[in-house]
Amino acid sequence: MRFLAVGAHQDDNEFGCGGLAAKLVAAGHEVRFLSLCNGCGGHHIMTPEETTARRGRESAAVAKYLGITYDVWDIDDCTIMPDLETRMRLIRYIRTYNPDVIIAHRTNDYHADHRAAAQLVQDAVYILTVPHTCPDVPAMREMPIILYYEDRFKYPPFNPTYVISIDDVVDKKFYACHLNESQVYEWLPYTFLQTVPEGEEARLAWLKGEDPATMTDETILAHSREDGYAIRFAQTAARFRAELIARYGKEKGTAVCYAEAFELGEYGKQPNEEEAAILAAL
Ligand SMILES: [Zn+2]
Repeated sequence: MRFLAVGAHQDDNEFGCGGLAAKLVAAGHEVRFLSLCNGCGGHHIMTPEETTARRGRESAAVAKYLGITYDVWDIDDCTIMPDLETRMRLIRYIRTYNPDVIIAHRTNDYHADHRAAAQLVQDAVYILTVPHTCPDVPAMREMPIILYYEDRFKYPPFNPTYVISIDDVVDKKFYACHLNESQVYEWLPYTFLQTVPEGEEARLAWLKGEDPATMTDETILAHSREDGYAIRFAQTAARFRAELIARYGKEKGTAVCYAEAFELGEYGKQPNEEEAAILAAL
């Protein structure tokens, strides 16, 4: 199957589905990440032009490392609009790649870019199958399946359909985050008033932060997301423990430390038996 993750920003894909991407590639599926924004706003010292160029190099490194393709559009950070022109651009782009599954934001979110990206995907999906709209690119015969990235918004709540263990690929996910160095070691620590150590090994250890392996779910959930990416990825497993047990059985589901969660979107295609089996086997 062909999977397309449409993040507003480059790290949305790595944080939201970096583990899933690694699992899909290992299982022989094709994965592409798209970032609608160019990353220009994500730095406090470099100019927007320097930041865009550096973010592009970081995304290329992620693509090479994960064995995926990665496209970055030229929209400046914090300026995505769910307008007709961008919708048509996205329709042409999605039709050309022809994915079976699109991973997207939900439309309730704190960030205007996430909301706009979510709206653009939602506005595009049905029209992907309408031949007389954007007739220069052949229409798809079916809509793709839509999966939402996990979020923490409650009105309406994120209601996961697939909660998958990423224990087998979590080191790959950490490293994909590590490759976004201008974000995880410069910009985000600047916004959270954090100090980052020098040297690759020390930085990677700092990025992971506290080890959740021996913590209870309650303790993991009581931690701040800023206590490290290990805690952050473990919080998904702790938050959706019941779903993990339902999926993997009591023993294996209880033992899962790191997870990613996705909600099946109502407006896209609903998986057929074969697709449901592939998604269930991840
Ligand atoms: Zn984002």
